[in-house]
Amino acid sequence: MNDEPRIPVRVNDRVLELPAGRSLLTALLEAGVRIPHVCHHPALHQAAGVCRLCTVEVSAAGQPPQTKRSCLLKVTPALEVRTESAAVQAAREKAMRALLRQAPQAERLIRLAAEFGIRIDPAPDGCIRCLLCERICREVVGAAALRLGKREGLRLIEPVEGRCIGCGTCANVCPTQVIHVHDEEAVRVISIRGETIGRHPLAVCEGCGRRFATPKFLEAAHVRAVDHHPDVKEHHRFCPECAKRHSGRVSALTTRRY
Ligand code: SF4
Repeated sequence: MNDEPRIPVRVNDRVLELPAGRSLLTALLEAGVRIPHVCHHPALHQAAGVCRLCTVEVSAAGQPPQTKRSCLLKVTPALEVRTESAAVQAAREKAMRALLRQAPQAERLIRLAAEFGIRIDPAPDGCIRCLLCERICREVVGAAALRLGKREGLRLIEPVEGRCIGCGTCANVCPTQVIHVHDEEAVRVISIRGETIGRHPLAVCEGCGRRFATPKFLEAAHVRAVDHHPDVKEHHRFCPECAKRHSGRVSALTTRRY
């Protein structure tokens, strides 16, 4: 390889002696020029030109500059190469976005983006911004405990301090399961994107002794329903099963007493 004829090629502000006829990407990498690439491997002779990260700006023989994949170009006389122009950066950004859409988990891509200053979209957080949770909490639950906020330029569903009553309705309607509700012994935990947004102690059913709902939820259900349902006042400290038994809606009275 060392006896390959070399020709001068202008690369950014320098003139490098590169082996004529070689892949431009390989020649530039060997000369110590930093170029991001993923689908190139030194063990393979044929370039694939798939990842498009190795795009550079080239002009030859007085032609206007064009962005091209350096792995598919050969080192030829009168070639001028720019590896750091705005057009190159834009091409790298487009290529990186396309790659990360397919492989958002790829740490190597994320590292490459950071190394070459390629702006990338934040990783998907699992929320599709349908707003079902925010709307149902406001319109049906009446708590208005969620809102669409903004964090680091990203629209995010976030809690409104002190308003959640721990009913779990948002988690039940969430189509992507990004909101979770789970009961840890005596506490109900509500979380979004893995961040806990509320911890609520659970009240004990006066019928069966099971922990079943949050006091805030029971209070809210009681206040809203008392005008329409006379049983609610009497049975709102019972879990749904015991409430049915105590209100006479279940014929066989098998109430357990504690
Ligand atoms: S758990 Fe909290 S945030 Fe979710 S619907 Fe109920 S009150 Fe709203």
